[in-house]
Amino acid sequence: MINDGGTRRIQGTLHSPFGMFLPALLLMSAGLLAAEGEKRPNILFIMADDHAAHAISSYGSTINQTPQLDRLALQGMRFDRMFAVNSICTPSRATVLTGKYSHINGVPVFIRFDGSQPTVAKYLQAAGYYTGIIGKWHLESDPTGFDKWTILPGQGDYFNPTFLEAGGKRVIKGYVTDITTDLSLDFLKNRPQDKPFFLMCHHKAPHRNWQPDAKHKAMFAGKVIPEPATLRDDGVGRTDAIRECKQKVLENLSPNDTKGAPPAGLSGDELLKWKYQRYMQDYLACVQSVDDNVGRLLDYLDEAGVAANTLIIYTSDQGFFLGDHGLYDKRFMYEESIRMPFLVRWPGVIKPGSVQAAMGINPDFAPTFLEAAGLPVPADMQGRSLMPLFKGKVPADWRGSWYYRYYHDPGDHNTRAHYGVRTTTHKLIYFWKKDQWEMYDLVADPGEMHNLYSDPAQAETVSKLKAELYRLKKELKDDDQFADKQPN
Ligand code: CA
Repeated sequence: MINDGGTRRIQGTLHSPFGMFLPALLLMSAGLLAAEGEKRPNILFIMADDHAAHAISSYGSTINQTPQLDRLALQGMRFDRMFAVNSICTPSRATVLTGKYSHINGVPVFIRFDGSQPTVAKYLQAAGYYTGIIGKWHLESDPTGFDKWTILPGQGDYFNPTFLEAGGKRVIKGYVTDITTDLSLDFLKNRPQDKPFFLMCHHKAPHRNWQPDAKHKAMFAGKVIPEPATLRDDGVGRTDAIRECKQKVLENLSPNDTKGAPPAGLSGDELLKWKYQRYMQDYLACVQSVDDNVGRLLDYLDEAGVAANTLIIYTSDQGFFLGDHGLYDKRFMYEESIRMPFLVRWPGVIKPGSVQAAMGINPDFAPTFLEAAGLPVPADMQGRSLMPLFKGKVPADWRGSWYYRYYHDPGDHNTRAHYGVRTTTHKLIYFWKKDQWEMYDLVADPGEMHNLYSDPAQAETVSKLKAELYRLKKELKDDDQFADKQPN
C-alpha cells in the first residue's frame, strides 16, 4: 500500500514488538536506507507541559517574549494549526508515542500505558537509533523502547525533584526545568557516536501550580500582563459545559495556585483581575525558564556540530487557556486548549522562517519521525507523516477535517466529556452525555463566542459537519468502546 504522502506502510496490525514487525521493519528499513544513501537525522523532540502557543512570541504572543523558541521559528517552520486529539496530558503522551487515538492505544484518561504495544521509540531503537526519554513521562508504566530513561514520577516536583530510572530512583537538587535540560545534555554528550539519536526531552513546566525559580519569578514580579479578550466570557448561548466546569480563573483558582490568599476585600471583577495576574505572572515565569533551557540545547547542538543533521521539534502536550473564556487548564475542544505549538527546524529540508497553515494532529508525530528516519510507517498508525509539509508541499488530499474526543468526566475540573470535528473553517462539538451541541464558524468568529448550532441559517452546515463527524468516527474505529467505562 502506498499512501499519498509517498510513505511505505507495513501491512496489517502489529501488536508484538518481538513478533512479525521486527524482521519486516529491519528488512524494509535497510532497503530504504540503501536506496536513499543519506545519513539518518538525529531527532530531538522537546515537549513542554501545558505551554500554549499564544505564550510564544513567534506565535504573536501579546504577553511574553521567547527569544530561544523564536530562534527555532526563524531557522525553521512554525505550524499554525497543530492540534491534540484529546487535550490532556497522559492521553496526548500516549498518542505521541503510538501515532494512535486514545481509544486504540488504551489511554483515554489517566490510566496506565501498556508498554508492550509498538511505539515510535521501539521502531527507531530497532532500526539502530540511540533512544532516550528525559523528564515528564506520566504514563505510569516503565518506559519501553528507550536505551536510557530518567523520568519524573507522576506529575513530578518543581524543586529538588525525584527521578526514576531503570536502576532505581534519585533526588536531584535544583529546579526541574534546568535539571531536565542538564540530563538531556548528559544524554547527548555521552551518546554512542556511531548511532543517530532520538531524544524526547519532556519538561514538567509550565504545568499547574506554576512554581517558577527565583530568577524568573523576579522577572515577572509585579508585571502587568494584558488580559485576553474573552476573559469575561459568560457562556451565554453555549451548552451547560462551560458553566458547569471548575476551571474558571475567578471561581476555581485556589490560594495554592495564586501562592497566597487574595488581598482582603477583593471581589467580583477586581478579584478576577488579581487572580489572572497572579496566575499569568507565575505561568509566564515558568515558560521563561523553558525558553532559556531550549536555548541551552540549541547552543549545544551548534557547538557539537550536529545541528545540521538534527531534526528538532518544540511542542507541548496540548494548549492551555490563559484566561481565555475565563478559564485556565485545557480539556475543552476550544482552540486555545487543543492548539499545540509546533516549531520544527531541519537544515536543508525545511525552509527557514516558513509558516505552515495545513492542519496537523498529534497522531502525526510518530509517522513523521519514522519517515524522517527513512523507515516505513506501520499501517495501523492513524496519523500521517508531516514530511511533505516540512518541505512546503501540501498534498492535494491532505486532511480538511479531524476528529477530537475528550473523556475525563467529571475529572478534576468537572469538565463534560465531548467529541467533535474541526474543519479548516468550522467546529462542531457534541457533549454526548447531555445531548447538547455547539457549532462555531472559525473564520467569522475565531474566538468561538457565538454558538450557531441552533441558527436556522446554519442548518445545512450543521448537517454536513455531522456527516463528517460520523464518517471520521467510523474511519478511526471509534465505536464508543470507552463511553461507559469512564469515572462519573
Ligand atoms: Ca499537559
